[in-house]
Amino acid sequence: MEIITIPCLEDNFAYLLICPNTQQAAVVDPSETAPVQKAIEKHGVELTTILNTHHHWDHVGGNKELKAKYPELIIYGHESDRGRIPEQTVFLKSGDEVCFGEQTGTFLHNPGHTSGAITFVFGKTAFTGDTLFAAGCGRLFEGTPEQMHDSLNIQIGGLPDDTELYFGHEYTVANLRFALSVETGNTEINKKLAAVTTLRSSGKFSTPTTLAEERRTNPFMRCSSAEICATVTSREPGHNLSEKEVFRTLRELKNNF
Ligand code: ZN
Ligand code: FE
Repeated sequence: MEIITIPCLEDNFAYLLICPNTQQAAVVDPSETAPVQKAIEKHGVELTTILNTHHHWDHVGGNKELKAKYPELIIYGHESDRGRIPEQTVFLKSGDEVCFGEQTGTFLHNPGHTSGAITFVFGKTAFTGDTLFAAGCGRLFEGTPEQMHDSLNIQIGGLPDDTELYFGHEYTVANLRFALSVETGNTEINKKLAAVTTLRSSGKFSTPTTLAEERRTNPFMRCSSAEICATVTSREPGHNLSEKEVFRTLRELKNNF
């Protein structure tokens, strides 16, 4: 499967997935129509499918226009997003498969950022939307810290280490700066910050990351790190925080960073 990153709006990513045998394609989170349309034409593929990670406007903004242009489009989203994802045709529930061309994938239900948030998984490739960002995670609009903790650490964290994670926004530099502020002794974060800063200054993007890299640099997947615990505990003296309490406090710190 070929994956084309399509920058959209200010800092969003849509992704065009191309099935090599059929030249049929799916687009993950079309924020807007024009850049997606351009990529479809450039690669000469047939768009058959939209995969929406969640219902926010900056992830579904192109649905209506694309459906008008390609009336046969199959549009996947979580079953609980019925009525919130424009033109949705497939309402995913536990155990369902996700198909386009000759490709078959699965999905993980990841409540936290929104209640219907999902990650699409095709082999060693996953599309995390606003649940996991490189070195960060989405804000908790509709879920609890406990849910987001489990979505990241149990659901996505249960994938193989070498899974490539394609995320929804280019927030990596800011996320790494926060990560460093709560774990100054983590040299992996410094290294990645230098590498991503160079990438960005030459106009390139930081997507995808890998699960292994996130385990080393993403504070929201490192709530048992001694240094992160110490940082967080120093702000709540006298408390012995559980891993999920560390997560909750980290998320609050990030909101105010
Ligand atoms: Zn969102
Ligand atoms: Fe978003």
